[in-house]
Amino acid sequence: MLIGVYGASGCGRGIMPLLRAQHPRTELVFIDDGQAPSYVNGHDVIPWAEFLKRQSGEKAVSIAIAASKTRQTLAEKCSVAKVPLVEARAASVVQMDEVVIEEGACLSPFVTLTSNIRIGRCFHANLYSYVEHDCIIGDFVTFAPGVKCNGNVTIGDHAYIGSGAIIRQGINIGAGAIVGMGAVVTRDVAPGVTIVGNPAKPLIKD
Ligand code: UDP
Repeated sequence: MLIGVYGASGCGRGIMPLLRAQHPRTELVFIDDGQAPSYVNGHDVIPWAEFLKRQSGEKAVSIAIAASKTRQTLAEKCSVAKVPLVEARAASVVQMDEVVIEEGACLSPFVTLTSNIRIGRCFHANLYSYVEHDCIIGDFVTFAPGVKCNGNVTIGDHAYIGSGAIIRQGINIGAGAIVGMGAVVTRDVAPGVTIVGNPAKPLIKD
C-alpha cells in the first residue's frame, strides 16, 4: 500500500502526521507538481506522474490543499486514474451518531461532528472546528481553524469559512461564499458572496 498526500505545503504538512498515525505500516509520500523540495518532514516528495508509476499493490491519495477548486480538479484526476481518496482523521476527532461523510475528508485534531450530519466530498475541517446537529454541508467545503457551525446550518459546495467564524443555528450559506475570519453570521449568505464582521455583512471593496 502506498498513500500520497497531495500538496507538500502548509496543509499537507498538517495532514501527513494524521495519516502516519492511521496507517503506521504504510509507505507515505507527498505528491507535489510545483516547486516543493524533494524531501519534507521525513517523506519523499514526488510528482503525480511518478506516483502513478510507483510499483505498489494498492494506492490511495489524500488531497491536502486548502484551495477547494484545486481539490476538485485533483479529485477528478484521481478518479480518472482509478486511485481512491483516503480520509485523514485525527485520533482526537469526535463523531457522534448518524454522520454521513463522503470520500476524501481531512479532519484535523479536535474537530467535533455531532449527530445527524451530512457532509460531501473532500471536506476540510481544520483544528478545533465543530459541526453541530442536522447540518448539511456540500462538496469541497473548507473550514479554517476554530469554525463554530451551529445546528441546522446548510453550506453549499466550495464555501470557505474563515478561522473562528460563528454561524448561527439554521443559517444557509450559498455555494462558493466566503465567510471572513471571526465573522458572526446571523443572516443567510447568498452564493459567491464574501461576508465579514459582527454581525457579518457583505464585503464592499473600494
Ligand atoms: N499543488 C500541486 N498540484 C496542483 C496544485 C497545487 O502539486 O495541481 C501543490 C503546490 O505545488 C503547493 C501545494 O500544492 O506545494 C499547495 O500549497 P499552498 O501553500 O498553495 O496551499 P496550502 O498548503 O495552504 O493548501
